[in-house]
Amino acid sequence: MIAGKKVLIVGGGIGGMATAIRMAELNANVMLIDLDPDWRVYGAGITITGPTLRAYKRLGLLDAIKEQGATADGSTIFKYDGTRLGNLDEPALEEGLPATGGIMRPVLHRIMQARIRELNIPVQLGLSVKALTNRDDAVDVTFTDGTEAQFDVVVGADSVFSGVRQIAFPHMAEAVATGQACWRLSIRRPPNMPQGEFYLGHRYAAGINPCGSDMVYLWMLTPHIERETHFTDQELFVMLKDNLADFGGNAGWIRDNMTQDDWINYRPLAAVLQPAPWFVGNIVLLGDAVHATTPHLASGAGMAVESALVLAEELDQADSVAEGLQAYQDRRFDRCRHVVDTSVTVGRMQLEGGSADEIGKLIGAGLHRLAENY
Ligand SMILES: Cc1cc2nc3c(=O)[nH]c(=O)nc-3n(C[C@H](O)[C@H](O)[C@H](O)COP(=O)(O)OP(=O)(O)OC[C@H]3O[C@@H](n4cnc5c(N)ncnc54)[C@H](O)[C@@H]3O)c2cc1C
Repeated sequence: MIAGKKVLIVGGGIGGMATAIRMAELNANVMLIDLDPDWRVYGAGITITGPTLRAYKRLGLLDAIKEQGATADGSTIFKYDGTRLGNLDEPALEEGLPATGGIMRPVLHRIMQARIRELNIPVQLGLSVKALTNRDDAVDVTFTDGTEAQFDVVVGADSVFSGVRQIAFPHMAEAVATGQACWRLSIRRPPNMPQGEFYLGHRYAAGINPCGSDMVYLWMLTPHIERETHFTDQELFVMLKDNLADFGGNAGWIRDNMTQDDWINYRPLAAVLQPAPWFVGNIVLLGDAVHATTPHLASGAGMAVESALVLAEELDQADSVAEGLQAYQDRRFDRCRHVVDTSVTVGRMQLEGGSADEIGKLIGAGLHRLAENY
C-alpha cells in the first residue's frame, strides 16, 4: 500500500532517516525535512547493542557500521578500581551478528545520509512544520517558510521536544527529568582495550565503548547538578577528571590522558513513554518524539530504527493508512514501554545506591527481552 504514497518525514535524525530509507525502498514518495540547516549531529560516540545491530542489518547498513565503527563479541566488567570481574552476558542474536558495538554519531549519520542520497530522497534543511490538518485520508501541511503541500502520511521523528507532537498530539506531555545526568567524553583508544568495558561498584556507573579503530567514548552517570547557567568546557573537564579520581583500568588511563581538546558533554536525563494513540488521523510519531528514554539500556536509537522498519512494513501490508498505523502502534508499544520503564528504574536504583548485583540483573534481563524478535 505504501508504494506511490506521499510521505513527509519531519526530523532527519536516526529514526527519521531510517524511516525515509525503508519507505523509499518500498517505493513511497518520501520527503525528509530537518530544522538544522547543516543537518549535523554532535560529536559523541553511541553504543550499538546486538538488537540495534540486527535492526541496522535489516536496514542494509550493517557492513558499513562494521567497517566504520567497532563491533565485538562481548564486553568486560570491572570493579571501578580496575579489578576484572567477568564478562557481560550479552545474548548472541543471529549467526554472523556481533554481540555489540559502537560508532561515532557523526560517522553513523554520514552512513545513513549517504544511503538517503543514493535513494535520491529529497531533503530540505532549515525547515519544519507550522500547521498540520488531517483532511480526507491526507494531511494538509504548512511549512515554517509559509509554503503548503498535502501528504498521505506525516511522520514526526523530531525527537524529545517534537514540534509535530506539540501541534497534533494534545494528549501528550513533555519528558520528565529523572534526576541523573550523563557525561560523555570522546577520546583516542587506550592502548590495551580490545572490547567495551563497564565499571561497577562506585556511586557513579561508568563505561568505555570503542567506536572505531582509534576512538572510544567514556560515559558516566551521576546525580544531576542543578545550576542556572551551563557548565563551561573547562569546568566539565575538571569535574569529570575529579569524578574519575577513584577509577583504575582504562577509565583511570582516560582520566590521566584526557585533554581539553577531547569532546566532552554533560546532559541531564529525561524520559517519557507517551500514552497511546501514537497517531492522530494520518500523522504518526516515532523515536524519541514518542518514547524518549535514558541511556541505561543503550537502546533509544535501536528502538527508533526498529520502529522505522515496523512502520514501513505495516503501512506496506495494510489496506489503509489507519490500519497500518494501528498495527505499528500495537507492535511497538510494549517493547518501547519496556525500554523506558527498565531504563528509568535502573536510574532510580543508581540514585538510591541500589546494589550493583540487582542493577546488573535488571539490565541483563532487559537486554535479553530486547533480544526477542519484534
Ligand atoms: C546521553 C544520551 C546517551 C545516549 N546513548 C545512546 C546509546 O548509546 N545507544 C542508543 O541506542 N541510544 C542512545 N541514546 C538515545 C538516542 O540518542 C535516541 O534515542 C535517538 O537518537 C532517537 O532518534 P530520533 O530520530 O528519535 O531523534 P534524533 O536522532 O535526536 O533526531 C531528531 C532530528 O530531528 C530534528 N528536529 C528536531 N526538532 C525538529 C523540528 N521541530 N522540525 C524538524 N526537525 C527537527 C533534529 O535536528 C534531529 O536531526 C542516548 C541518549 C542520551 C540522551
